[in-house]
Amino acid sequence: VLGADEEPETKPYNKDETEAGEPTNEEAESIQKQRKLLPAFAVRSDLMRTIAENQVTVVIGETGSGKTTQLTQFLYEEGFGSNLSSNGERRIIGCTQPRRVAAMSVAKRVSEEMNCTLGEEVGFAIRFEDKTDPKKTLIKYMTAGILLREILADPMLEKYSCVIMDEAHERTLDTDILLGLFKQLIRRRRDLKLIITSATMNADRFTHFFGDAPQFTIPGRTFPVEVFFSKNSNADYVEAAVKQVLTIHLQNTKNQKNDGDILVFMTGQEDIEITCQLLQEKLDLLENPPPLDILPIYSTLPADLQKKIFSKSNSLKRKVVVATNIAETSLTVDGIKYVVDSGLVKLKVYNPKLGMDTLQLVPISIANAQQRSGRAGRTGPGITYRLYTERATEEDKMYVQPIPEIQRTNLTNVLLLLKSLKVNDINQFPFLDPPPKDLLNCSLYELWSIGALDNLGELTELGKAMTKFPIEPTLSKTILLSSRPEFHCSEEIITIVAMLSVPSVVVRPKERAAEADLAREKFLISESDHLTLLNIYTQWETNLRKFKNNYYKINSWCNKNFLQLKSLLRAKDIKNQIVLIMKKNNFPLTRSKSDEDVRKCLCASFYQQSAKLVKVNVGGATEFLNLRHSYMKMYLHPTSSLIGSTPESIYVIYHELVLTTKEYMNVVTVVDPLWLLEYGSKFFYIADKYKQRIQSVVNIDLPDRSDIERALERDTHEFEKKQE
Ligand code: ADP
Ligand code: MG
Repeated sequence: VLGADEEPETKPYNKDETEAGEPTNEEAESIQKQRKLLPAFAVRSDLMRTIAENQVTVVIGETGSGKTTQLTQFLYEEGFGSNLSSNGERRIIGCTQPRRVAAMSVAKRVSEEMNCTLGEEVGFAIRFEDKTDPKKTLIKYMTAGILLREILADPMLEKYSCVIMDEAHERTLDTDILLGLFKQLIRRRRDLKLIITSATMNADRFTHFFGDAPQFTIPGRTFPVEVFFSKNSNADYVEAAVKQVLTIHLQNTKNQKNDGDILVFMTGQEDIEITCQLLQEKLDLLENPPPLDILPIYSTLPADLQKKIFSKSNSLKRKVVVATNIAETSLTVDGIKYVVDSGLVKLKVYNPKLGMDTLQLVPISIANAQQRSGRAGRTGPGITYRLYTERATEEDKMYVQPIPEIQRTNLTNVLLLLKSLKVNDINQFPFLDPPPKDLLNCSLYELWSIGALDNLGELTELGKAMTKFPIEPTLSKTILLSSRPEFHCSEEIITIVAMLSVPSVVVRPKERAAEADLAREKFLISESDHLTLLNIYTQWETNLRKFKNNYYKINSWCNKNFLQLKSLLRAKDIKNQIVLIMKKNNFPLTRSKSDEDVRKCLCASFYQQSAKLVKVNVGGATEFLNLRHSYMKMYLHPTSSLIGSTPESIYVIYHELVLTTKEYMNVVTVVDPLWLLEYGSKFFYIADKYKQRIQSVVNIDLPDRSDIERALERDTHEFEKKQE
């Protein structure tokens, strides 16, 4: 609990994360007992010998065998935390995770097992959050993305004596790029140990990739799992899951005894929350139902709530964990007997038409389905209920293996990184699976269009500077432009970028939507959602200062204004970190003289995402046409500040597209078409017939579809030619 005069730097929102459940003596003892029961413990010495004798080792083991939590500790106990580097500094043990939640949760667990404070001997680092101590930390869990960025500053990874690439079979984009970089690095750093852990699927690929590296399999015991399919395909998988869970729960609770917990696989925060809510509602309708603990788990869930899923199984109260695919391999929940599998996953997929990644709901692969089923058979025989038909798996509707991320998502971020690591010819890079050529070209083209690459495909000065920020290229470009004298508004832009990097700051509960909209009105800047975000932040910060950082006062101010305190505090944190990067690199911090400068700067960075107003009321929505793909209709998001202002000609830039019922532009700012011409000359020009009139009528003609396509094709060809 915060006192009236404490600094906000005590970060109230972090309090529960760091202080929840410091283990008591008894707990510590029981933790040590648990450790010794793990399959990894039984093979410790053989495993350590294999690692000692080889530079690269592939470790395979069932989930829950102790790979993630034990390997780092074994290595530490073997002295890998006290190796010295060439310049006499202590080298540490690194462990990469594909997911942020896993990095945090596992670091916490290991710090408990080692009986130390999280952030000291054992720490973690994820984007915008570094809980490590440069002097004390010996075991560092981090996302693969963090290690990638560290390679930029320290190409030989001098800081590490060994690196464990955990969950490599997940084949996330960052992991795949790291694998390629390590293939090159291990030749230059013969003393660096690399350990790749993998579920059984894919393990051979890694072995071959690293020149027949030895495989070490942690023997584990699994129990048979019976699999039931749905008879018919389910129109609503959430409803089907709820029904299935209740059936399991009610049929298998005799004399109030829980015979095993339930794990449900859903796709994301939204359907997880609805599932939990529906379960509770249905349960409440029953008379004296057997008790059920309903626990959600997804990446943005606060840490103290995440921890609940690990609570000991209880013979009197069944628990049902409703999870994303994070529970497939990353996190192990003990005591699961029943699995309910929606058969779906939310995947990032590059949409060439939109020129960006979109989240799509797709069927999981057969390998994932097996992995999910396996979760029911860890402690005894189990049962899996698949909410899809057996035919769905037979008719080639499911892939055998998931498609690696590198073959389906936007590559601009990693390409920029590789370019700055002087990997000039991407085609020569040792990919485990190379990205498709189209995807590669699209991403290179994007980088060229925002000015990160020149016509020869070389990194520009702007491109080089962009890599200093751990954010997507367009946003780092905005920051860099804003610090130029011509725009002179980096303070404002940094705040906007920070606000764009956190989960939504406005709260809009369905029951109180009208009230929430009214509260939002006083923050609105009618020509810009970006400026509205800035305005919200500025007013919030003013009040934070006025209340002398009193947590209760600022919290009630936020509630009154339908704002999310947690997101705002996080934005403040991110803003401070960006400011640090600015100072470190001598990029000027400047305050704008007018809103127009900020809008100009946004236009200069987002001209490739621009649109022109067409009709104000099309079935209640405001319709725009995309300026780069003029055949593409887009709509103003119902929460946009622009709703209601209806000038005759509006050009806008937008931060992102959200695909729900319509193609909605999210976070929009009105720009002057002349700015588009000035900054976006790569795409926009004035047709000859308008040239004389341009003085009086500011109106860029929309070239028709074929014109744009021809222009784009021409550019792409020229660009590709130069690439070759
Ligand atoms: P693997 O990486 O091989 O899948 P882990 O090292 O993640 O296995 O897990 C080993 C054991 O530690 C499992 O039984 C798991 O339930 C337990 N465990 C992991 N994290 C936690 C935690 N935060 N709280 C309690 N138990 C945990
Ligand atoms: Mg693991």
